[in-house]
Amino acid sequence: MNRLDNKIALITGGANGQGAAEAELFIDAGAKVVITDVNSEAGEATAARLGENCAFLQHDVSSQDDWARVVDAVVDLHGRIDVLVNNAGIFRVLGLADTDLGTWEQTVAINQTGVFLGMKAVAPVMQANRAGSIINISSIAGLAASKAHAYCATKWAVRGMTKAAAVELGPSNIRVNSIHPGYIETPMLDAFGVPRQELVAKIPFGRTAEVIEVAKVVLFVASDDAGYCTGHEFVVDGAIKA
Ligand code: NAD
Repeated sequence: MNRLDNKIALITGGANGQGAAEAELFIDAGAKVVITDVNSEAGEATAARLGENCAFLQHDVSSQDDWARVVDAVVDLHGRIDVLVNNAGIFRVLGLADTDLGTWEQTVAINQTGVFLGMKAVAPVMQANRAGSIINISSIAGLAASKAHAYCATKWAVRGMTKAAAVELGPSNIRVNSIHPGYIETPMLDAFGVPRQELVAKIPFGRTAEVIEVAKVVLFVASDDAGYCTGHEFVVDGAIKA
């Protein structure tokens, strides 16, 4: 049996990168997936590539109205939501001195408030079903210091919010976990503005990761194989933070 047979999954930021890889893997494992993103062109293209078990909805995760519309649409389409992956995020490599208020507020709105709104909007749907797995994509920047000040703040926040939600939603049989990727091969890595060799030199495992290597961990956490895992961190970083 496929690990996500008959499961309905909602993945934010699913037009590109890790979100798109997770959508593809989830569909291969038997799920029906709705990807959402601010980037409609890429989102439509990804959904078309992944076929009839993938739908795309335009969605700004920092908007509460958008969340209400998206959750209603997924429930109308599939009747429930079994898995939520709060994956959408932005990354600005700016230290404290260089982070202006606008950058701070935008990063918090997408990376942190987006996760809050997502859990808040989807939890009642999962509670009605007395089942669910919420997966919040944090980062190794949510485990230790990072040069990206606002990003680091939001990824630590997501780690704490994950634990608080796991405790609150545990009695409803809803699991909540965070994923902490290291350096993953997506355009996001280019934001560092340094050659790959410089990043790779910091990785004990000697290479960056492919998106599929994170997606496989997300699949495990989404599936019933992780049925007693909740409230914790899954680190996928080639030992950077070991
Ligand atoms: P990516 O840039 O390829 O994907 C991010 C997606 O989020 C994009 O499709 C983008 O359009 C979307 N997005 C941005 N703002 C949005 C908004 N307001 N509403 C909805 N969608 C929005 O990068 P990725 O690496 O696939 O990032 C996925 C997640 O992984 C992010 O949360 C990121 O912080 C995290 N992460 C990435 C790395 C890495 O090395 N790439 C490392 C650690 C954590």
